Amino acid sequence: MRHAILIFAVLMLLALACNLTSPADQIAPPTGDEPPPRQTASPLPASPCGDGICQGPENARNCPEDCGEPPQEAPTSTVRQDAPLFLTTMTHMEGDWPDDTDQDFFLRNVQRLRFGMDLFEDYGAKMTVESEKPFSRANTVWDLNILQEVVRRGHGVGTHCDIGFRDPIMPAEEFAALLKENKDLVDALVGAENNRGCSGAGGANDWAVAARMAGFDYIDGIVGMHYLSMPIANRPDPSWTDQYIRNVAFHYNAPVELEQRLYPFLIKDATDFIPDPDGTLLVSGGDLGQLAGLAEAEQDVICRPDCSLADEDVEALLRIIDEVDRTRDRSRIAKLNLYFPANIFVETNESSLRHFLSQMEELERQGIIQWATQLEVAEAVFSWNSP
Ligand SMILES: [Zn+2]
Repeated sequence: MRHAILIFAVLMLLALACNLTSPADQIAPPTGDEPPPRQTASPLPASPCGDGICQGPENARNCPEDCGEPPQEAPTSTVRQDAPLFLTTMTHMEGDWPDDTDQDFFLRNVQRLRFGMDLFEDYGAKMTVESEKPFSRANTVWDLNILQEVVRRGHGVGTHCDIGFRDPIMPAEEFAALLKENKDLVDALVGAENNRGCSGAGGANDWAVAARMAGFDYIDGIVGMHYLSMPIANRPDPSWTDQYIRNVAFHYNAPVELEQRLYPFLIKDATDFIPDPDGTLLVSGGDLGQLAGLAEAEQDVICRPDCSLADEDVEALLRIIDEVDRTRDRSRIAKLNLYFPANIFVETNESSLRHFLSQMEELERQGIIQWATQLEVAEAVFSWNSP
């Protein structure tokens, strides 16, 4: 994009220069009874760009045709601004919900998503809704394409992959086929171009290789489960056995160190959380868990499944963002991600949600954060890495 703007600017300059003609050229040709145009010392002599003569206002930059190639532009990286700190959300339409068989259940979810989007839009904020099979099917079964509406309203859509946690090791193609089954259902509703990420898929199988094979460009919603594909040596410490992950740490934010999950990075396989130079799948983390659980998390208390949303949670979030803003590496795109379960979008939470959204609006106004969908973060990272 930066290149495109630069090229456009250069082309505009060229067009301008090549249209530069002396005022004499703009006078109608002499008819015979008029005096010939008066020669004056100025303005510039006629020398249209392309006549092989480099003179007048022409130079290498505005008329390389006559004056030779322009000097090389300085690399754009030297004038790069700070990389943004993106703020995203994810809302999972879960795999064990009966949306496709219970219309009331589906319509209640639709109502909640619309309630959330209405609130978010009041503050210029963006949601991302990630769908498992039943909810995707329900969009067709009940003839209400809410995922398309989510995209149309400027929010994000992705695939929720509640797959792999309990699955045994299987051939990569087989695991990829399971992920693709979920992807195809969402693709059919919003188009593959709006559905490029898989949220979840952590387990013993190599979720990175399989997600790539299934056609995904990024993984988000990264939790303890995603360590199951890695040898113990590549997990946070030796206490992270399969059993510990399966029973305790399966939903912990991962990678465990915020510093390590703050910056999206590319990998080629799921054997560790270290960026691979030849990686093709984006690990798009930054997970903070539920907004409603942040005050509790500061006290090392995990509230599950549901925490109540309170202003203290927003205060805790502000402390996290402040710390990240003061310490982050501004040469890399950073991301923080909040999980919002669909059942948080109800009227009893409206004032807390508005408090959260207005605080974030203020941070965005100050240039500290930038709201984005999961897809927008991935696209920003891809173009940042290949300017
Ligand atoms: Zn789920």
